[in-house]
Amino acid sequence: MALFFSRAGDNYEHNGLPLIRCQKHPKQRVLRDGDVTIKVLFCGVCHTDLHIIKNEWGNAMYPVVPGHEVVGVVTDVGPGVTKFTAGDTVGVGYFIDSCRTCESCSTGHENYCPNVVLASNGVDRDGVTTTQGGFSDVVVVDQHYVVRIPPSLPLDGAAPLLCAGVTVYSPMVEYGLNVPGKRLGVVGLGGLGHMAVKFGKAFGMAVTVISSSPAKRDEAIERLGADEFLVSRDTEQMKMVLVGVPSKPLELPAFAVCPSGKRVAGNGVGSVGDCQAMLDFAGQHGITADIELVRMDYVNTAIERLERNDVRYRFVVDVAGSLGPAA
Ligand SMILES: [Zn+2]
Ligand SMILES: [Zn+2]
Repeated sequence: MALFFSRAGDNYEHNGLPLIRCQKHPKQRVLRDGDVTIKVLFCGVCHTDLHIIKNEWGNAMYPVVPGHEVVGVVTDVGPGVTKFTAGDTVGVGYFIDSCRTCESCSTGHENYCPNVVLASNGVDRDGVTTTQGGFSDVVVVDQHYVVRIPPSLPLDGAAPLLCAGVTVYSPMVEYGLNVPGKRLGVVGLGGLGHMAVKFGKAFGMAVTVISSSPAKRDEAIERLGADEFLVSRDTEQMKMVLVGVPSKPLELPAFAVCPSGKRVAGNGVGSVGDCQAMLDFAGQHGITADIELVRMDYVNTAIERLERNDVRYRFVVDVAGSLGPAA
């Protein structure tokens, strides 16, 4: 079984959001060289899933099977698979393939490949097949785009590491912030923000959370271990912040950047190598996401709550537990 989000506006719409319908999952592809079959155990719900379901980026290919924070177990391997065997506990993130020859792919930055194949609502390398994500009983992925989940981590809380975790970990390492004593500012305490606090503290950094909600102070400092807390609506406190990050458009005064040689950078998830390094680090430091575990039949409500930021901090779907052994 898989969960499909159908086109908004048809019979499945409810409260402005497309409802899920359950269908028999279309047959997965015959295992190609290097493919592994993964029984999905848990799948995180990312804000990107919400963008796709509502077609906010104008590129939804309905019916959509969302989900790109997959944790599962290998059940079968195709010819030439050397990295995994049946029974391995693995993860799949935001993308499941790339061209493998461009400069980004050749230098271990396949997340920036112009022909990257997204795990959900993407187009596979054959140019026609729409990819279907982890709200499904099974996924088939090339071994090079699958990572290993450290045995020390709980599998449900580990699922959001596959997107939210690597998205914050990757730029910290890329820009050399993962050094004790460095200072990290985290704007917004949500799915990504709370992961950034956890990784920042594990790196030994001094972490300041900047939030528009004063009520999050105790949460940030007492529970997540942040060192300082700033309220972003408080103009007096914001004067202390050298570079703010407004939602959009991004506007920076040149004198805040040029004289001191500061940089403004973007980041898109992380490479497969980044993802494995992040998981290994998370395994050593016991880092997982704070989650609310839900069953598949709660996903519509979860999506609606996610839209209201009513989740602390990530929904994870108990896929295998919802479908039962005979699915
Ligand atoms: Zn995501
Ligand atoms: Zn490429």
